[in-house]
Amino acid sequence: MSDFKFIIDGKPVDTTESFPVLNPATETVIAQCPKATIEDLNNAVAAAKKAFPPWSATPDSERARIVHAIAEALEAHSEELCQLLIAEQGKPMGGFAGLGAGFEMGGAVAWCHSTADLELPVEVIQDNEVARIEVHRKALGVVGSITPWNFPLMIAIWHTMPALRSGNTVVIKPSEYTPLTTLRAAQIINEIVPPGVFNIVTGDGALGAAMSAHPDINKIVFTGSTSTGKKVMRSASGNLKRLTLELGGNDAAIVLPDTDVASAAPKIFATAMINNGQTCAALKRLYVHEDIYDEMCDALAAIAKSVTTGDGSGEVDFGPVQNKTQFERVCQLAREAKDSGARFLSGGEAPDIPGYFFPVTIVADIDDSARLVSEEPFGPILPVLKFSDVEEALQRANNSSSGLGGSVWSSDVEAATALASRLECGTAWVNNHAMIQPDAPFGGVKESGFGVEFGRYGLEEYTSIQTLQVSKA
Ligand code: NDP
Repeated sequence: MSDFKFIIDGKPVDTTESFPVLNPATETVIAQCPKATIEDLNNAVAAAKKAFPPWSATPDSERARIVHAIAEALEAHSEELCQLLIAEQGKPMGGFAGLGAGFEMGGAVAWCHSTADLELPVEVIQDNEVARIEVHRKALGVVGSITPWNFPLMIAIWHTMPALRSGNTVVIKPSEYTPLTTLRAAQIINEIVPPGVFNIVTGDGALGAAMSAHPDINKIVFTGSTSTGKKVMRSASGNLKRLTLELGGNDAAIVLPDTDVASAAPKIFATAMINNGQTCAALKRLYVHEDIYDEMCDALAAIAKSVTTGDGSGEVDFGPVQNKTQFERVCQLAREAKDSGARFLSGGEAPDIPGYFFPVTIVADIDDSARLVSEEPFGPILPVLKFSDVEEALQRANNSSSGLGGSVWSSDVEAATALASRLECGTAWVNNHAMIQPDAPFGGVKESGFGVEFGRYGLEEYTSIQTLQVSKA
């Protein structure tokens, strides 16, 4: 018997099978989550397909009103949603730099409002005695959203609100590690949208693959690992699904010798450890010029030693790593770095207590070839690498199959901007990192995926172009 229900065609569905959802701080079961079958998924897709014609024909202003109404309803349930998020994801309410559950909740609401206000007006290419040619943006149909466990609520909103806003219907499948906040949000959303417009299924295996191969899903938006993203792309070929793939990143930052360490270090720390390092666009490889290397290492280590890690239900800076697999991966990467002779300036060892806790860890004197550097750790551990020549630093930063974000830090903004524009990534920051906002496009290059989210560019990804040509001659 599950404590939650998924929703198909506006109605809660009874299931016989369920799976446990754990609190990563205690490793105890907090709820049983309903397990959808492939038949349930097919029913959800059929409901979304049936709801598509009326929803896509709903006046644009009405869809905008509904997305605003969703934002208000979610906000009205903030406390409840945050408590679910804290329990299943592990993050604290406030957390370091205020980037915890409250931030995720606020982000979800802000992104809804901002998406509601977007428009895709008809573009007139030509209007003369020969012809009038207009470019229209048309909804695609059923959008399948597969969301991860790091920001379950905010990413669900990023995926689904542009879909609804532009006239598509949705089937969402949250991560099996963190399905509860999304299930509750889906209930709230279903009190506002017509039946079948927003469907949710939950399970612990096989649904994602079935969605990406489903002939009646017209687009998949996936946030997760590059390896799974490649599988999505392979199985999407059956009906030539549109794809937005927001995959892993291994973001580099280059700190030039004229950087003011005292003011940069706290920002660098916050953007590396955002969400306990479990953020696709967190700063993950820090290249620091040799002139200020020791000063930067000391500054980062001092911050790391001053923060607290613990159960997200308490007043802590950071919670646990979200799941056991990810926790073991972080432990393994740290062990390998230690064995290779790297210098640990803080943390490095998981305490022998229940929960997937790993202390905030700063690692110096490590080689680019270490897995901690060449692969995305996705946890609270930051390698700090030394360079002497800026061109060499750029080459090392770009020497990655990932290309999500990157940054350059300097007191010479012009020089830093010129260097940042040579980073091979979807977003380049100067004197900051991992900062996103609802009106600026965000997406990866190389194996970090393709397609962008947010703003008009993001909204366009949920549509196809129809050129309407009216001959006058
Ligand atoms: P994955 O990226 O492997 O994604 C798991 C999700 O993908 C589940 O919902 C699963 O659904 C679905 N899925 C599995 N196979 C397929 C398929 N063939 N087609 C479509 N969907 C499929 O997540 P992990 O939790 O394993 O994380 C692994 C790594 O991913 C992390 O270490 C981190 O590096 C990265 N990551 C990146 C994130 C980001 O924000 N970019 C977020 C989270 C993780 P089902 O259960 O039905 O199989």
